[in-house]
Amino acid sequence: MVDSEKVIVVGAGPVGSLAALYAANRGHAVEIYELRSDLRDPSTTPLNFTRSINLALSERGINAMRQAGQSKLIDHVMAATIPMRGRMIHGRRPNGDLYEESQDYDVHGRSILAIDRGGLNKRLLDILEEMPNVKFFFNHKLVGADFGKRKAWFEVLRKDASAKHQEVEVDFDLMIGADGAHSAVRYHMMKYTRMSYQQEYVDTLWCEFQIQPEDVSSRSLPSSKFRISPNHLHIWPGRDFMFIAIPSEDGSFTCTLFAPAAFFEHLEADPRGSQIPTAFDKHFPGVTSLIPPEELIASFRKNPHLPLISIKCRPHHYSSSVVIVGDAAHAMVPFYGQGMNAGLEDVRILFDILDKHSRTADSSLAVEAGSLSPAAARASQRGLALTEYTAVRVPDAHAINDLALQNYIEMRASVLSPTYRLRKALEEWLSVYFPRLGWQTKYSRVSFGNERYSEVVAKSERQGRVLVRGLISGIGLPLIAGGIAMYFRHRRAIEAGVRGLLSSATLYMVEQYL
Ligand code: FAD
Repeated sequence: MVDSEKVIVVGAGPVGSLAALYAANRGHAVEIYELRSDLRDPSTTPLNFTRSINLALSERGINAMRQAGQSKLIDHVMAATIPMRGRMIHGRRPNGDLYEESQDYDVHGRSILAIDRGGLNKRLLDILEEMPNVKFFFNHKLVGADFGKRKAWFEVLRKDASAKHQEVEVDFDLMIGADGAHSAVRYHMMKYTRMSYQQEYVDTLWCEFQIQPEDVSSRSLPSSKFRISPNHLHIWPGRDFMFIAIPSEDGSFTCTLFAPAAFFEHLEADPRGSQIPTAFDKHFPGVTSLIPPEELIASFRKNPHLPLISIKCRPHHYSSSVVIVGDAAHAMVPFYGQGMNAGLEDVRILFDILDKHSRTADSSLAVEAGSLSPAAARASQRGLALTEYTAVRVPDAHAINDLALQNYIEMRASVLSPTYRLRKALEEWLSVYFPRLGWQTKYSRVSFGNERYSEVVAKSERQGRVLVRGLISGIGLPLIAGGIAMYFRHRRAIEAGVRGLLSSATLYMVEQYL
């Protein structure tokens, strides 16, 4: 898009705000409609979260912000992050001792970054506010849309619940739907396009806890405000449960319990809550020394127990008038730390494709020939761009959705499995000693690169097949050769044994079936 158009963004979360920034940088008249009041107003409680939660930001999200054309955004964001170079696995040995084991994410030393989601969102809103071509409409809820006529209707929410809500009608050239997992834009889009839609709730709920910072004010010697390593994402893995902790700049850790609904129901049924610390001691050894039992009980009772949803849909656009991005297009379980990263990457890819189509000459020729008005020509280019966006992005959104579900198993159990560790070690060794082979772990490709998610999956599967073949020829072939040598050395005894086995098997079959 070259000429100015009216772009309305529904949802001022991190993805919608970045989309608004990309559109505003291209000179469009941008309007942002957000259901809630301004996040920067201290009285606003973030949707779904008890307080601002910490997320893992990685290369895809960073790259999308880097390319937003605002160096102060990326500088500010990076300054407010804490690098996490690996997982810290916590557990208890058979003799009862507690242990911590660090597993680096990347053999080349690259880290993912802990970031305050609210802080990132606020920074984006601050930058947008300074732009003359951006207008905010908080407390505006999308309630209807006509994507043929390019009109949308918003209910203006009043603080006073008894006051009558007013409705406003808004025209637009392009609507970007970034209104999260329960997207109203997606719902209205479904009436216009044959959308395939799949939604799944996993049998896991999540609840937030806090590890408070160390009180260093009374110490004479300098000491850390962090009670556990700040440069790790801490995991207490379990077969069906998982507890994780992500560092914050103030020295605290935002922790999340992931467990089956039945586990929550069992603990909710305990009137005094005394079973909560007991369950933590059993499943997450050491946590009760970081979060006192009374705080554990209070957080479990006060903080919501929220579900996890995974959504796949296709297409992500309708005609030239609307496109959905972020959780609205592909909400995923949070186990690859990619939900927001993938959403920010959507924005970069969407605008790359829109830019590419706005440079193509076909429509300008049609305008010159008089067969299209400039507005119709722009709409036609945009329609082609959105069609390409769906074709490119849907397979990638589906791929990261599936990877996120698979990673739940990896984070809970595989991090302790010898096969998982062997594959990780082999792949890292190949990546270091044979860089020309381009060998990388799946995690590195997802978190430290910008390759398409679908390509990451294809490459990782190919690497897996090569490794299996390598292992067969490295271990299997010598075993087969050894077996053949054994046969010739003890031929008579082996043949007698086989004859014996065959006759017993024949006897068994005769007895069973005849
Ligand atoms: P949202 O953040 O949901 O924003 C949508 C906005 O739209 C909201 O402000 C909402 O008020 C507004 N809205 C909704 N309906 C309407 C309407 N009708 N009209 C107007 N406005 C509307 N991702 C990562 O990358 N790394 C992580 O480590 C990570 N950890 C996570 C941990 C947990 C426990 C969870 C639950 C998620 C995690 N995620 C993580 C995912 C991440 O939080 C989401 O992917 C990200 O917030 C999606 O951003 P969004 O802007 O698309 O949607």
